[in-house]
Amino acid sequence: MQKDKGPMSSSASRDRARLTPRPGILDIAPYVPGAGPSDAENIHKLSANESALGASEAAIAAYRAAGDHVTIYADGAATALRETIAEIEGVDVSNIVCGAGSDELLQLLARGYLGPGDAIVQTAHGFLVYGLAAKACGADIRIAPETHLTADVDAILDAVDASVRIVFLANPNNPTGTYISEAELRRLREYLPPDILLVIDAAYAEYVDAPDYTAGAALVEENDNVVMTRTFSKIFGLASLRLGWAYCPPAVADVLNRIRGPFNVSGPAMAAGAAAFRDRDFVERNRAHNKAERDWLAQQLGGLGLDVNPSVGNFLLVKFPDAPGRRASDILQFLASRGVFVRDVEAYGLPDYLRISIGETQANRRLVTLLAEMFPS
Ligand code: PMP
Repeated sequence: MQKDKGPMSSSASRDRARLTPRPGILDIAPYVPGAGPSDAENIHKLSANESALGASEAAIAAYRAAGDHVTIYADGAATALRETIAEIEGVDVSNIVCGAGSDELLQLLARGYLGPGDAIVQTAHGFLVYGLAAKACGADIRIAPETHLTADVDAILDAVDASVRIVFLANPNNPTGTYISEAELRRLREYLPPDILLVIDAAYAEYVDAPDYTAGAALVEENDNVVMTRTFSKIFGLASLRLGWAYCPPAVADVLNRIRGPFNVSGPAMAAGAAAFRDRDFVERNRAHNKAERDWLAQQLGGLGLDVNPSVGNFLLVKFPDAPGRRASDILQFLASRGVFVRDVEAYGLPDYLRISIGETQANRRLVTLLAEMFPS
């Protein structure tokens, strides 16, 4: 770099006067995670849809054992983890790509397929990261209205125009907790133009027990333009380790493998992830706990006169009345002042609602007790 040229005087000097990010980057409102400390006694964090029962002991043991090997680069191809996933899920190992959380995979998909002038479609109350990832690539966002807080396939298809390159669909969706059936998902793929990638974000798939639901692996295998993303942050209880996987058509896996960092997933995360995946007892216990507690919580909150959106995930979206001192924002503050942290979903266009993660039994009881104070029958 030459230092003695002096300031530039051409029109280029205006552009070069200061370090500037690409157009649109500063319009991105950074993602705000669910608030609240996690470990203190009598504090309950129900704001980030983490696992109610923690993580599998086998996963934690594997994580600790991996701590003996932090000096060497871990396998950049994540071979052992991918093989474990492939064996248990019955999918093709070569079409799995692992990432630092499914967030990274969503970002990589955006980076691989979007540029300025392109657009994505997402639903009105869809997961916020899709829009952030699109904007970071200079792409625009088309919003498809939902029906009864549920993705509407016809509205998604109507939102598609010539600029659209990706449709992002969380199924089930965060924060609404609703899902569309396999038949609807297939209808969506069938009527989308073939050059549009359909990304099915199935972060909460393991919690769903609806018989007409599919996470989407078969759709990936039957099409060259469908990707399914999954995470270890929810039912596996490994949110802090940042681990996710995408199941892709070969050409999409190839794109992701070209643009991801060569060692994007850490050794301890992969070791813990593989052990977590093999511990089916833990997954089953967590699923059963979630279902029982979600049903109980929905019934209790309904009994207090609150409007609870039906959910197949590990959280409930609850509507609060437009009454002084009882609005969603009041309740958020009241619960936080008593050590229970839930999620404000105003950024999702749902100012009258709060999203409440299903916690351990004690946390759920405490939540109901506190809400009963605010909504006496
Ligand atoms: N998709 C959805 C729908 C989510 O709710 C979340 C987590 N809030 C993610 C993806 C990202 O999860 P992670 O990056 O931890 O895998």
